[in-house]
Amino acid sequence: MLCSNQLSYITVTVAGVERIARSVQPRTSTVYAPRQGREGYVSDPFLVKKTLAVEELAIGIMDAVVVGAGLVGAAAALALGDAGLEVTVIEAAAPPPASDGWDSRIYAISPGSRELLHSIGAWQQLDAARIEPVLGMEVHGDRPGARIDFDALASGVPALAYITEGGALARALWRQLEASDHVKLRVGSRPQSLTIDASAATLQLDDGSVLRAPLIIGADGAESWVREAAGIDVRTRGYAQRAVVANFRTSLGHRGIARQWFRPDGVLALLPLPDGQVSMVWSAEEAHAETLTAMDAATLAQAVGAASAGSVGELEVVTPAAAFPLRLRVAASFVRPRLALVGDAAHNLHPLAGQGVNLGFRDVRTLAATLSARGPERDVGVLPLLRRYERSRREDVAAMVAATDGLQRLFSSRLPGIAALRNAGLSLADRVPGLKSLLAQQAAA
Ligand SMILES: Cc1cc2nc3c(=O)[nH]c(=O)nc-3n(C[C@H](O)[C@H](O)[C@H](O)COP(=O)(O)OP(=O)(O)OC[C@H]3O[C@@H](n4cnc5c(N)ncnc54)[C@H](O)[C@@H]3O)c2cc1C
Repeated sequence: MLCSNQLSYITVTVAGVERIARSVQPRTSTVYAPRQGREGYVSDPFLVKKTLAVEELAIGIMDAVVVGAGLVGAAAALALGDAGLEVTVIEAAAPPPASDGWDSRIYAISPGSRELLHSIGAWQQLDAARIEPVLGMEVHGDRPGARIDFDALASGVPALAYITEGGALARALWRQLEASDHVKLRVGSRPQSLTIDASAATLQLDDGSVLRAPLIIGADGAESWVREAAGIDVRTRGYAQRAVVANFRTSLGHRGIARQWFRPDGVLALLPLPDGQVSMVWSAEEAHAETLTAMDAATLAQAVGAASAGSVGELEVVTPAAAFPLRLRVAASFVRPRLALVGDAAHNLHPLAGQGVNLGFRDVRTLAATLSARGPERDVGVLPLLRRYERSRREDVAAMVAATDGLQRLFSSRLPGIAALRNAGLSLADRVPGLKSLLAQQAAA
């Protein structure tokens, strides 16, 4: 058993490999002792954590601490757990409980993300009756006739994306975290200080606990504390827009088509939901967003119906409007020694392509694959290994930033001639053989 106030060496068995790890247990009698028979833990019969006051965890027993269990952090913890790592997750607040109505936070989940979510056991827990596959997509410019269409069948994929509720997905991931043998969940605490030395990173939490692990993963969203504590710069651009979201019943239904309109005053998207409903994301200039959120239900339904040219018929509000500020934030680096950023902590995009969380899930896949493939190098926090993760992600992130930021700039430009050019570009792209399949397949990743 681990003793207090002493430095000891213990034998740890991880993934069948026995190794010696340093156990540091100073200051108080708080100890972690193993669960019996649990791989990755000290072969000692005593059970689990005795107090939350102060813990210093033996290197090799805890491989990583994930800060933030949003969709991306939760997926990261589970994927790393499946890759044989022992992970502790710190999350400020548990996801809200389920309610009867429809969630206004709706996500277009790419087929690649769905595969990841399935592999970590979350997707199969979702209610299939509340998921809508996207069979086609119409993207309209701001001149009549300027549009590009995508079709799942023609692109060789069963669906371009799957529309699902954010809350349901968060709860499914949370259940998996609670059930995992490789993940310890600490809810209600936040880190207060981060120090990194040659052998580990140490997080001091606001409840007085101290966690020490070879790797810290910052999955704490766009305002990432971890990113800031690590001194990583961030490139920022405000869009002076808010994303207004609401769900509607439609009189004509949607035929599984996601529709988007690039307008001079923003971008309007209607995503298909089950039972002929649609979920709106209207990225509108600040003042317009304020007007939209202040409208009563009937006026909002009328305004959205008119802006979408009646394509889904008459609308009736199901979930009232809520607004989210929009900003581009890209971290100058995704890694430091013993630290990696994933999800919005690394890159926070304009939602016009519905790719933010998908990009984060691709971070997770790459990080898990990189750490799994580290070979005889047992230490998951060394910089050359983490740099491999960063190099593998840079191109995808840069391409998505360029696409979303570029389109946002192009369609918000008031320069003479730009409107004709952008609309001609959209129609041209629609006719280039092979281009649309390529774009659809990239979006499906
Ligand atoms: C209107 C809108 C629509 C969108 N639609 C789509 C879409 O259709 N498809 C898509 O792919 N993306 C979409 N996105 C983007 C998507 O919402 C984000 O990319 C995604 O939620 C990021 O997830 P995350 O887990 O990285 O961060 P977050 O969701 O921000 O999670 C961060 C977590 O960390 C916790 N946390 C934060 N700080 C601390 C701390 N100090 N200590 C402990 N815990 C902490 C928080 O409580 C939270 O749980 C949309 C965005 C918007 C605004």
